[in-house]
Amino acid sequence: MKRTAFPKLLSAALVALLLFVVPAVLALPTAPAAEAHMLSCKQERAYGAKLYNKAVKGHDVHEATGGVAAIQDRLIEKNSDCLNYEDKKHKRYLARTMVDETPASPNAFMAPGGRSVIYAKEIDIDRTYDRATRIENDARRGLGPADYSARSNIAATLAHEYGHYANEDFLKSADRHMAIAVAFACIPSPATLAADAALTAGLAAGNLLTVRQESFNAEADADATSLDFLDNVPEYSMGSAITTFHRYEKYLRSTGGKDSSDGVRNFINPHSKSDTRIQRVRDHIKDVSLGRVTLDADDRLTVDGQLVFGTGYLADADRADSRERTVYLAGQIAGTMKRHLFRPGYLCLMRECDFAPGGSASRTVLVVADHEGKTEGHGTIMKVLGTFDYPKGTADRLLTAAQRKAKAELQAVWDLTRTLRARMKA
Ligand SMILES: [Zn+2]
Repeated sequence: MKRTAFPKLLSAALVALLLFVVPAVLALPTAPAAEAHMLSCKQERAYGAKLYNKAVKGHDVHEATGGVAAIQDRLIEKNSDCLNYEDKKHKRYLARTMVDETPASPNAFMAPGGRSVIYAKEIDIDRTYDRATRIENDARRGLGPADYSARSNIAATLAHEYGHYANEDFLKSADRHMAIAVAFACIPSPATLAADAALTAGLAAGNLLTVRQESFNAEADADATSLDFLDNVPEYSMGSAITTFHRYEKYLRSTGGKDSSDGVRNFINPHSKSDTRIQRVRDHIKDVSLGRVTLDADDRLTVDGQLVFGTGYLADADRADSRERTVYLAGQIAGTMKRHLFRPGYLCLMRECDFAPGGSASRTVLVVADHEGKTEGHGTIMKVLGTFDYPKGTADRLLTAAQRKAKAELQAVWDLTRTLRARMKA
């Protein structure tokens, strides 16, 4: 830095301090204590409608149906303390997520008042078959109840947007603008003006998403909230957040950087780079498992210091989805440990067709179930660890080589729970 730049910088900082920090400090105590926010829920919804209409004007938009709608229902059902639909009991509620079919970059956003939009392109990226070097948009995984890993990817995207809503980011942003307005004491209707200011700032920036993205912190918070939302649904994994970031980066590379001008997650908006966000998910998985589940920079999974599938099925380079299965499993093991259920007595095998409608009889799902108060059946499914491609209950000699490998893989996951018990006994 040149010396002469310093006084200029100092005065700029002083002006910024007077304009923003001091008024905010002066004004905040004047906020009515009973009201959590300056804007009412109704006002928030009105601004959301305005913003939403502007965002989708001329676009081909429809309400989410089928698998995408089911994902939203599931996230709400299992996170009902933070998320809900209009039920006459709550003042603040989510609208049905809208799907924008207009060709665009993969993205999703949350307008104020619980109005979320996911672009069809984002759904494509989240559900496509992943190959090592490219995203195949024309070959997509199903989104039925048995296709829970593809659903988990879309859930990771939606959960981030619902995180903005649950964290009240727009309301907080309006509060901040409001604080400034009140300090200058020259505005008759500061609440409206504050919301207008927040809204205008977003529109003027040429990107509606800016409204809800005033800071890196709000983004990091939405990511953190989304991991809890995912973990609360048995078949969704925190690890899927890693998968969606990887897929997005792959998509950007596949466009040769051409899409970077409107690659909204990382370029225009102040989101952290995908690498940073991926590392935060890995750190979170490690934290909730009390350090027992770790993923390295290549997403190699270690449980209790033991490398899982270091040379096996999941780590096969030619298995396109091996990395995604590994991070899914990592998130689910961590979630199981968080609930103190990572023990052999809680593991249970189900035929995929018994696990979910549309499932196959020749695939086996490993679940963690809580049998409390139940003497038969599989109990309440708490977490799904994975689907393994062999028919449960079939003699080994009748299995193909691939099926035997899948069974061995399942056994290896199961054995992880025994390792810990053996160590505790020793
Ligand atoms: Zn965001």
